[in-house]
Amino acid sequence: MSSTRTVLVLNSGSSSVKFQLIEPDTGTSVAHGIVERIGDANSTAKLTLGEQELQRDGTIADHEAALRTAFELFREGGGELSDYGLVAVGHRVVHGGRDLYRPTVVDDSVLTAITDLAPMAPLHNPPAALGIEVAQRIMPGLPHVAVFDTAFFHDLPEAAASYAIDRNVAEQWKIRRYGFHGTSHQYVSQQAAVFLGVPLEGLNQIVLHLGNGASASAIVGGRPVDTSMGLTPMEGLVMGTRSGDVDPGLVMYLWRTAQMSVEDIETMLNRKSGVLGLGGKIDFRELHKQIAAGDTDAQLAYDVYIHRLRKYIGAYLALLGTTNVLTFTAGVGENDGAVRRDALSGMAPLGIELDEHLNDSPARGPRIISAERSPTTVLVIPTNEELAIARACIDVL
Ligand code: ADP
Repeated sequence: MSSTRTVLVLNSGSSSVKFQLIEPDTGTSVAHGIVERIGDANSTAKLTLGEQELQRDGTIADHEAALRTAFELFREGGGELSDYGLVAVGHRVVHGGRDLYRPTVVDDSVLTAITDLAPMAPLHNPPAALGIEVAQRIMPGLPHVAVFDTAFFHDLPEAAASYAIDRNVAEQWKIRRYGFHGTSHQYVSQQAAVFLGVPLEGLNQIVLHLGNGASASAIVGGRPVDTSMGLTPMEGLVMGTRSGDVDPGLVMYLWRTAQMSVEDIETMLNRKSGVLGLGGKIDFRELHKQIAAGDTDAQLAYDVYIHRLRKYIGAYLALLGTTNVLTFTAGVGENDGAVRRDALSGMAPLGIELDEHLNDSPARGPRIISAERSPTTVLVIPTNEELAIARACIDVL
């Protein structure tokens, strides 16, 4: 039992809620878990509390039931929230639009604004709004703070933030490149400086956040100068199920010629594309197995993924001129040495050289994987969006 303060961080998706109870001051995770397949007959709730792994299977009807089940598991494990000095609930919200970017205590007008942004993040903002509403109902006495994935990129230079389209249309419909995964890009770039023991202000960095969603950013002195995601979290790198960059003409072509509806095109680009769409697998561990078994579709998926990643790295090397640090993070970036090797192979003339041994090491935690002579230091830094959100909550309070 701890006498320090904690924040409950919630990440609400359409059929899942991830949660973590975290001490913002020490970074200690008290408990974490996930409720999956909400609304399904075979929902599961899992919670890790200290050494204990607790699980409950069976229908969990909705997001409210999901949160209540998580609390029940917490109590089952001997935890009592009131013992942990809970001071706030932090909510990950993907899209904050033009106006919401600072961590914000949620009131009715903020909740309405998050809901109104649904057209720009149809997969993400509606469940986030629902998660906030439910959590406010269950925990009415606590401040609920929304932390936006777009926030870090709010002041992206105009040249990087603007699409070259009719500016009246852009203005009327608030079209710009917002960028996403900002909490992770900010946290990882700050941690890189801490890990290397050098001032953030002096570093030109590239951060590659490679999870199911994937994005890259170029950062000068702690401020982003470009990022690969745009108006929505679909632009840029190839992802688990999202296409990343496509010719916008493709949308009109499918609409007009294949007579696919807007919803069908959206579903195809968001859920049936990327590595899954090309190679049939979403998880890189499975993709590698398929490739080893001679599956040419899986090989193409991997090749397209790496090709796109290298294009973005090249673009950001050019934008930065000098790149001091390049960091891999998130599920694929932290764990998949082959992706890191193939993303950077042959770049010694550009100042990037991996140490194969360090790259292949199964070590965890922040680490250097570049050769000593490499002008650009290459790092692996585990992201911790929950901790960053918890700390943002404390800052705003
Ligand atoms: P999310 O975007 O859902 O937060 P994560 O950052 O957790 O995603 O990344 C999940 C992905 O990371 C998995 O789909 C898988 O492709 C990849 N991954 C996780 N562990 C490994 C591993 N040991 N080797 C290769 N890839 C991994």
